[in-house]
Amino acid sequence: MSTNRTTAQWQAVDSAHFLHPFTDFQALARKGSRIIERAEGIYLWDSEGHKILDAMSGLWCVNVGYGQRALIDAATRQLQELPFYNAFFQTATPPAIELAELLSEVTPPQFNHVFFTGSGSEGNDTIVRMVRRYWDILGQPERQVIISRQNAYHGSTMAGASLGGMSGMHAQGGLPIPGIEHIGQPYRVEHGRGMSHDEFGLVAARWLEDKILAIGAQKVAAFIGEPVQGAGGVIIPPATYWPEIQRICDKYGILLVSDEVICGFGRTGRWFGCETFGTRPDLMTFAKGVTSGYIPLGGVMVGDRVAKVLIEQGGEFEHGYTYSGHPVACAVALANIKLVRELGLVQRVHDDVGPYLARCYESLRDHPLVGTAETCGLMGALLLVKDKATLAPFDPSLSIGMVCRGHCFANGLIMRAVGNRMIIAPPLVITRAQIDEMMALIRRCLDLTLADAQREGWLA
Ligand SMILES: *Cc1c(COP(=O)(O)O)cnc(C)c1O
Repeated sequence: MSTNRTTAQWQAVDSAHFLHPFTDFQALARKGSRIIERAEGIYLWDSEGHKILDAMSGLWCVNVGYGQRALIDAATRQLQELPFYNAFFQTATPPAIELAELLSEVTPPQFNHVFFTGSGSEGNDTIVRMVRRYWDILGQPERQVIISRQNAYHGSTMAGASLGGMSGMHAQGGLPIPGIEHIGQPYRVEHGRGMSHDEFGLVAARWLEDKILAIGAQKVAAFIGEPVQGAGGVIIPPATYWPEIQRICDKYGILLVSDEVICGFGRTGRWFGCETFGTRPDLMTFAKGVTSGYIPLGGVMVGDRVAKVLIEQGGEFEHGYTYSGHPVACAVALANIKLVRELGLVQRVHDDVGPYLARCYESLRDHPLVGTAETCGLMGALLLVKDKATLAPFDPSLSIGMVCRGHCFANGLIMRAVGNRMIIAPPLVITRAQIDEMMALIRRCLDLTLADAQREGWLA
């Protein structure tokens, strides 16, 4: 362990030296960080000794919960045996080979090859280079454009942030890079009021077709999307959306990329989100849940259509990372995926805790602040509204989500705010009793937020 310091000392040193990701540095320095010191199961403990229920699985990743011996032992053993060797220059290590084999087993049948990276962002950078390379090899180098969606999250590197549809990110650093286009997201509250879910799903999918026709199909390389947009606020698309996207991709022959960084490895109640939503992607990005976040690892599953061309006609693919196939990361991923299987976590989300969470969320719909309450597997989102009947939003300057999040922190619950949406993605090992405990905390924090809104006259 690190040295013993008081919370105030940690905070002082932290703000003196540590530039945090996605953080207003000055604001954080004034307030001081929350210091997390240890964890077990679905709970964290901060430096003040507070116990916190982690309903976000760290950052959507600690699917097997904290403190799993099998993962810790796998890392320790591999560190002793061979802490590092690369996969460049025609070499490989046993954990990387075994993980490639196991990933081919647990992913849909069209996937038999993997390219390893260190993160989801690097995975999506790899996707950009790989799909353009694919069309190059096939003699269609003009197929460069990748279509994505507004409010998508695909990581923070130049290509990842460009694929993403976050306007705040695009405003910093001259993004998006050329050859990336965005269509609207399948968010019914924003774009589809007055339409049925099914109707809106088709309308939103057809924005892809409109975009393809506007650009010219012969210039479009691929479409990329998260099955459920995570960081964008757990936007769960209507059931008609993804099958229509698949139909359109097939019609124009463009590659379909499923960014499974959050949805992969059981989050939606199937191994991969594309299985829940009914698509057959050509490529899939993964990270986060592949190691339950115990150690960084990401990658791209490459479907047979693309792999065949890269392997048989491609020559050298001039791309790779020092840590592509890192043996310790791969050993942890192997232990993690085996544990997910042993514990039957995917089935459990599908049959048991997923439906249970869905029922709990339905019961929140009567709360005066809750406009919509939805779940998909073990992801949930609440839309906080000023008026339940019309779904009229609060004035954005009130930051109602941040007010609610503040109550969550103060009451021992990590629930994230994305604008007016309060989102959760708890560890897949969460029990029904723990879901009850989480729901009681959520209800209490909603009540406290409501009391603030009433007192301040925000509802009027
Ligand atoms: C987190 C995330 C990424 C980026 O992964 P990093 O490991 O942070 O680079 C990409 N896509 C999705 C859908 C994500 O949620």
